[in-house]
Amino acid sequence: MRTGSYELDIIVQGYPGKSVCHGGLGWSTIALLRGEGRVALIDVGSFSQRGPIRERLKARGLSPDDVTDVILTHSHWDHSVNWVMFPNATTWIGAGELAWSVAQPWGHNTVPELYVRELDRNPRTRRIEPGEAIFPGMTAELAPGHTPGHLFFVLATPESDILFTGDAAKNRAELLSLTADMTYDQAESRRSMETIWKRWRQRPGTLLVPGHDVPMRLENDAPVYIGTREAAISAWFENDLERTTLFSLTLREASPARVAAE
Ligand SMILES: [Zn+2]
Repeated sequence: MRTGSYELDIIVQGYPGKSVCHGGLGWSTIALLRGEGRVALIDVGSFSQRGPIRERLKARGLSPDDVTDVILTHSHWDHSVNWVMFPNATTWIGAGELAWSVAQPWGHNTVPELYVRELDRNPRTRRIEPGEAIFPGMTAELAPGHTPGHLFFVLATPESDILFTGDAAKNRAELLSLTADMTYDQAESRRSMETIWKRWRQRPGTLLVPGHDVPMRLENDAPVYIGTREAAISAWFENDLERTTLFSLTLREASPARVAAE
């Protein structure tokens, strides 16, 4: 998808769900943004996404070495740990988010303690202040609630804008209800989502890329999905590895949300 001088690809699509018996699912959005000499990833997922990241970069003629910028919305494990995959990248994270993350007691939440400790002492780490520009047209805004120093990013180009909301607005249901499923402060989360809505409505055609859902645009002030949801699990319930049972995790026919063609 082209936006001004940038090309956007959702290389891993976020999923708006939780596992029922196994804790957090953590299927988060990983967005590739290319242009103005940058090869940037907005959030980089976790261990299970390393293979898909490599494959999908390769399909575009890229390797992890080519990534110039890793831009993190927040420090949670399912968005952040793969910063270590990109040896030539500058990793951008909110100054307040990183300071909060390294101060967390070990073993109590979903901050990857050792990965943020390394990030804190890595010379390629850049700490962002809210309102700061990361590269031409791309600025960071504060959106606390899900974590205290969570940022969302606004790419503004002459043609159209893109919002990368991370987990400040994880999915369509959160955006519509203005309530968050996982938050340190429900009132803060609501204020952050109101800020995101204000920015989303400001310019018609603005694409919103959430942390755990398919991107959306507004049509008549209602979010419409851009692209098709893809999610499934393949299970070994038979007596050998050749036969698998496929469980689709989408509701294509019964989906309550309209889907627009990309
Ligand atoms: Zn999170």
